[in-house]
Amino acid sequence: MHALLDGGAGDRADARGQTDERRVAPFDVAVEPVANRAGERGDADRAQRRGHGGPLLETREQEQERNGDQSAADAEEGAEEPGDDADDGESKHRSYRMGMDALARLRAAPDRAAILLDVDGTLAPIVARPEDAAVPEETRAVLRDLVARYALVAAITGRPGAIGRELVGVEGMEIVGSHGLELAPEADEWRARLQEFRATVDWPVEDKGLGLSYHYRTHEDPARARAELEQIAERARSAGLRARFGRMVLELLPPLDAHKGTAVRALLEDRGLTRALFAGDDTTDLDAFAALAELDAGVKVAVASEEAPPELLARADLVVAGPEGLVELLRTL
Ligand SMILES: [Mg+2]
Repeated sequence: MHALLDGGAGDRADARGQTDERRVAPFDVAVEPVANRAGERGDADRAQRRGHGGPLLETREQEQERNGDQSAADAEEGAEEPGDDADDGESKHRSYRMGMDALARLRAAPDRAAILLDVDGTLAPIVARPEDAAVPEETRAVLRDLVARYALVAAITGRPGAIGRELVGVEGMEIVGSHGLELAPEADEWRARLQEFRATVDWPVEDKGLGLSYHYRTHEDPARARAELEQIAERARSAGLRARFGRMVLELLPPLDAHKGTAVRALLEDRGLTRALFAGDDTTDLDAFAALAELDAGVKVAVASEEAPPELLARADLVVAGPEGLVELLRTL
């Protein structure tokens, strides 16, 4: 009856310590495609998943099987004392259940809900060279179906919007680039000021519209390059820009308080929406998670990988195994 979830249970010596793995595993085996989709709505969804051990839901009964009845009872008693390490598993489980409830509310009224997605590592599998990244055609088909039914389907990416739009390639999806900087009211003004500054710098540039990147990884004399870029950074700061060095790169950005969280708020407020799912795979996606906390129904989905920040997994309501796992989840919406 619980074939999918039981499949890996024998490996788990400590159920509490394995909470994330437990939530990932069902998507690893990816399962239960869409056969029961017609019944997957609201409470019927939960009841039905309990019956066949579907890909998303770990029931209370199943957790008890894994923990043993006594430890589950202990966790229940301790649920009112957040901050106690021993309650960590229960707290995650509660978050998971709340996420599943919120998911049911999204499904119940898609015309009042938003599906918000990071791109690299979430829709497009990570590849060695970022320019080779692609969103699989199968994923695009699922997104097109969502666009037809949901109030909003949007991607929020660190890439410039135009590149993100091409990469995602789904008509009707809203694409927000530059980690949400593009939605800031002052964006156009800063775009112009960055162009003015760019014109004063004699150095190869990666122009992102709302950001200028000066790379020196391949420079013949990196130390000299760095020294020259330090001077450019100083001038940029005098011009009111934000300057920061990354891995062999100087980045110049507008001094705006804009990130994926502000992008999520702007997208939803514009449309008067208070129900949303957000899925992401990296640290910058935590800002979007935080923005969901203000909603009537918010579902935080972490796309797990070996490089995924532990904090992202810890804060998620649901964890899926890679972009493939996310597609399986999106199919159920
Ligand atoms: Mg990403």
